[in-house]
Amino acid sequence: MTMIKEFNVFHAEMTAWRRDIHQHPELMYEENRTSDLVATKLEGFGIEVHRGLAKTGVVGTIKNGEGPSIGMRADLDALPLQEKNTFDHASANPGKMHACGHDGHTTMLLGAAKYLASSKNFKGTVHFIFQPAEEGGGGGDLMIKEGLFEKFPVDSVYGMHNWPGMEPGIFGVGGGPIMAAADTFDLIITGRGGHCAMPDQCIDPIVAASQVVNALQTIPSRSTHPVDSVVISVTQIHAGDAYNVIPDSVRMHGSVRTFLPETQEKMPQSILRVAEGVCAAFGASCELNYMKGYPATINSTTESEISAKAVIDLVGEENLIRNPTPSMGAEDFSYMLQARPGCYVWLGIGTGKGEGGCMLHSSHYDFNDEVLPTGAAYWATLVENELPL
Ligand SMILES: [Zn+2]
Ligand SMILES: [Zn+2]
Repeated sequence: MTMIKEFNVFHAEMTAWRRDIHQHPELMYEENRTSDLVATKLEGFGIEVHRGLAKTGVVGTIKNGEGPSIGMRADLDALPLQEKNTFDHASANPGKMHACGHDGHTTMLLGAAKYLASSKNFKGTVHFIFQPAEEGGGGGDLMIKEGLFEKFPVDSVYGMHNWPGMEPGIFGVGGGPIMAAADTFDLIITGRGGHCAMPDQCIDPIVAASQVVNALQTIPSRSTHPVDSVVISVTQIHAGDAYNVIPDSVRMHGSVRTFLPETQEKMPQSILRVAEGVCAAFGASCELNYMKGYPATINSTTESEISAKAVIDLVGEENLIRNPTPSMGAEDFSYMLQARPGCYVWLGIGTGKGEGGCMLHSSHYDFNDEVLPTGAAYWATLVENELPL
């Protein structure tokens, strides 16, 4: 709790930063104002700043003697969504909104940077990583490809996401998969179109496609280990232009979520096997395009214990949820965890009581400023624990 007091001193200042960022949301790789704001603040704290990785990424570095090196990451980008909140700090940019709380993440990491730059109560190197384009643009992956960990070597890397539905100030920390891999697919089912009243002279791709949608659900339920998790959602079906014409083909699109890399690897062949088999039964054919997206976010065992210890030191065991039920959502911090060991934790922001409590990606969402000192203090505790004097 002592560490949180350190941050309570500038709670109002952090709230002002957070609301400023919230009011000026920017989409993937266009986070110019946000990136400027972050760089200016870091420089103001006396921190060395590096810009330009993944276009709008920012890395701040504090080196305080010889010791281990730690990376801590926040995301800068907003979503293409029209905000429906009416408070003063609601989005000033039409069609853009901080509906995932990245404004809060950026602020908490900035808060930690401010504190650590002045206290320097650690020995080693801290890299504050502000990445663009988490929302579908793979900004974390691009930073790595552009040499993030060669330019800023770290022994371990940590991430944090706010979590509506958990009480404010409660942390969720688990080892192993915590967020899923998110792949997408296109299925084109081809039959033979014709007159709707003469189906015997056609191969109806709509009937075949309808069976494919159902049959795909047997992949999670029948051909995946019962304690492993897979979600296959067909989210779009497009076909036909007339009431009285059986179309030639159907286009389907969907999303596949998995936790285990070996399960993810099996998905394209499983989908093709089921779709081809079902189509063959109707005399139709099919074609699959399978696109791999963000990999699963998998926390390493040692670093998740380090995160859990920081939480216990900060807020006590009673405010730590160990091994929370993982989410089938996805997160591009996963690429950083593929490159270096680390841990991604959840910080509760509320349970639906007023602002800050509603769901991520909702047009009514707002980050709960109440937790800013707690989140920033978690970062500082992590550094002081891992890089002792
Ligand atoms: Zn999001
Ligand atoms: Zn997010």
